[in-house]
Amino acid sequence: MTTEAISAKWQSTVLPLIEDFYTIQGEGAFQGQAAYFIRLGGCDVGCVWCDVKESWDASAHPVVSVAEMADRAKASGAPVAVITGGEPLMYDLTDLTAALQAAGMRTHLETSGAYPLSGTWDWICLSPKKFKAPHPSVPSHANELKIIVYNRSDFDWAEKHASEVGRNCELFLQPEWSREAEMLPLIIDYVKAHPRWKISLQIHKYMNIP
Ligand code: SF4
Repeated sequence: MTTEAISAKWQSTVLPLIEDFYTIQGEGAFQGQAAYFIRLGGCDVGCVWCDVKESWDASAHPVVSVAEMADRAKASGAPVAVITGGEPLMYDLTDLTAALQAAGMRTHLETSGAYPLSGTWDWICLSPKKFKAPHPSVPSHANELKIIVYNRSDFDWAEKHASEVGRNCELFLQPEWSREAEMLPLIIDYVKAHPRWKISLQIHKYMNIP
């Protein structure tokens, strides 16, 4: 395809967009770094403690072309675009990641892994949920495994998922926000006993930024 044809394709590829904004990555391996977040609408995973339930209904959000998303992300000056949701892998993300990379941005994905992997990624953060198991195409490609700890049984569940990712995948335990006071001491003890794991905290919530 010519450059013009590719550009036209990106204009016609649309995805439901809840919000996009330049902020600080609050969690995981890139915690504390500047990043442009693109939050896509639609999720059927159904986590009871989900803090973005407004994302579930994709039809409640306007569709925006991937070309426009990439233009806005580039204009922010951010080095990285983080695609999150909702569950972004409900959609074929090939054109979105191509448009972002053509704009000179790194592409990072945050996913529950509930749908087949699509797109071209510089970094994949897999955060599996008990409510819908990851698709088999995802775990071996994860650069980062982030387990949300809601109760004690989640440590065994975390190890099960750690056995399914690659050797170099970074492993994080993150307390569910409303359970942090109770779970954090357990996580600290667990990481001291199992030091291949690290702790992730949602520092954007402490900073009161999105
Ligand atoms: S996968 Fe994410 S967006 Fe979907 S219900 Fe769970 S926490 Fe909410």
